[in-house]
Amino acid sequence: MSRRPLLVGNWKMHTTVVEACQLAAAIRQGCSDLEDRDIMLAPPATVLSEVSHIVHGSGIILAGQNVCWAAEGAFTGEISPVMIQGAGGHAAIVGHSERRQIFHEDNAMVNRRLCGGLAQGLLMILCVGETQEERESGQTFAVLAEQLRGALDGVTPTQCARLAIAYEPVWAIGTGLTASGGQAQEVHEFLRDQVATLYEKNIAGHMRILYGGSVKPDNVDQLLAQPDIDGALVGGAALDAASFIRIVHYKA
Ligand code: PEP
Repeated sequence: MSRRPLLVGNWKMHTTVVEACQLAAAIRQGCSDLEDRDIMLAPPATVLSEVSHIVHGSGIILAGQNVCWAAEGAFTGEISPVMIQGAGGHAAIVGHSERRQIFHEDNAMVNRRLCGGLAQGLLMILCVGETQEERESGQTFAVLAEQLRGALDGVTPTQCARLAIAYEPVWAIGTGLTASGGQAQEVHEFLRDQVATLYEKNIAGHMRILYGGSVKPDNVDQLLAQPDIDGALVGGAALDAASFIRIVHYKA
């Protein structure tokens, strides 16, 4: 089944307005030759609106790095799906390991965020991934199955069309360590099987499953050559325009 590749740049807590606009403009220019893949940028919420003017009309999709389940209310520090849309965004990431580990977001909270974003019409990226300890103690598949089951509780089959999963082994994020193509493929195949079990084979076949964890220009080609890897979620290398542009131009 052919799935349209999706390449996401997660800028994390980096960039002022000026820096963000420069980076977005360079990426827009460097990726203007590509029509067969989706490009998504997740800048900090503080620059979303400015960046949306820079990428307007380019097809580049803008995402929040997290999203609240409520449309508005007393949720100090949170950003709602409506606010993301109002700032020019159409997507959001949830369940990033930095949210889970540093801010103690559990599967139940990730589920609320995911359902809230989907209900408001956002395209959602759900991150899952095991820690080094969990991998070494043979729990990788159990942890991923539970993260997936917990996060997808209440997500309808129709909503799955606006969902992508990002497999991000925690031990590979920002560490320079990368899962090998084979290691990642094994997990992606497992995740697709899980989606088939939770929903149905056709939904699993259409679901984009991205890999994230120290994706760089020199390893993207072998990762994206794997049959179940449909794109990449890129952190560090997404802050350098030339690196991200090369990643987006991967050769599978
Ligand atoms: C990420 O932020 O999701 C990520 C994968 O970061 P990095 O590419 O720096 O490992």
